[in-house]
Amino acid sequence: MIIGNDPILLTPGPLTTSAATKQAMLRDWGSWDAAFNAMTASICKDLVDVVNGTASHVCVPLQGSGTFAVEAALANLVPRDGKVLVANNGAYCQRMLRILKYLGREHSSVDVAEDKQATAAMIEGALKMDPRITHVAQVHCETGTGILNPLAEIAGVCARNGKGLIVDAMSSFGAIEIDVAKTPIDAVVAASGKCIEGAPGMGFVIARKALLENSQGNSHSLAMDLHDQWTYMQKTTQWRFTPPTHVVAAFRAALDQFKAEGGTSARGARYRRNVDTLIDAMSALGFKTFLPKSVQSPIIVTFHAPADPAYSFKAFYEKVRARGYILYPGKLTRVETFRVGCIGAIDANEMRNAAAAIGETLKEMGIKSAAPEKVAA
Ligand SMILES: *Cc1c(COP(=O)(O)O)cnc(C)c1O
Repeated sequence: MIIGNDPILLTPGPLTTSAATKQAMLRDWGSWDAAFNAMTASICKDLVDVVNGTASHVCVPLQGSGTFAVEAALANLVPRDGKVLVANNGAYCQRMLRILKYLGREHSSVDVAEDKQATAAMIEGALKMDPRITHVAQVHCETGTGILNPLAEIAGVCARNGKGLIVDAMSSFGAIEIDVAKTPIDAVVAASGKCIEGAPGMGFVIARKALLENSQGNSHSLAMDLHDQWTYMQKTTQWRFTPPTHVVAAFRAALDQFKAEGGTSARGARYRRNVDTLIDAMSALGFKTFLPKSVQSPIIVTFHAPADPAYSFKAFYEKVRARGYILYPGKLTRVETFRVGCIGAIDANEMRNAAAAIGETLKEMGIKSAAPEKVAA
């Protein structure tokens, strides 16, 4: 799966892509070319299928990283006089709150500890207390820690209370089942370079068609205007503005491999095996996970840093990198951690090898125990 001596990315986007996905980028495409535009249309169709949304939803692709698509979804699907609730249990929830502030959309948050799930009950409580809330913006898998939030229950509460629901499914789309025919969701937002295992560079919003059609004039920004992107694409088959052609071609190849692997359930199962293998091997070295197993997603694992004074993340990172694996720094302020992504064109074997590289690194750094300072139960 690796080419030459490229290190394996254990970062949840960009991530390690297959040779076939990389090869798909070795060709230039014209943005007016019918074959290129047919490719975009086929990608959009397949993405809507992933969440079983063909009867109700449409896909609008957008140039940029995942955050661009999250921002566009909030800007387009929340009317200017709307108010958005965010149950905040991590960095990407905080990012949505920052986006809402920039957009000038009213918002409020329920603050949740980073190792605790957002719950339907806490969201329902907040909705009852503030009837001005019109929408909930929910991160499905909070990649900041790796915690999985209970999306179906939260969607149920939103529907019962007549509130819109916009889901940042960036790190879960394609790995954890989302079925918009069963689970009422206004918009699912994700990007090319996560669990579909494409190259980074385009996001997409799978929105309820009726809502998107009614969203004209909501966007503060031309480049982020999903209604405009959608209507232009319907009319011309083309992207507004230069498309990320190579990224689109790689995404097409990645989606073909995703389907061949068996779709969301097969991919999710491979990632789950990756996570389980990693946690077993790291536990054998003495590492402790930040999250209890019951809320751990099959996407990324946060480990406590060793308390040993010989540990520093920078040196640790460099030495693990020299052995061929790229780790991810922690995103928590309270405790010293690091993260290991388990997604991408990698399997349990790579997870075992990564843990072996980490074990050798501990020895080289003279770290006798990987045990953390003190783990709150
Ligand atoms: C990756 C990710 C994003 C988008 O981040 P970008 O750096 O803009 O690609 C948003 N939300 C979650 C949960 C993510 O994992």
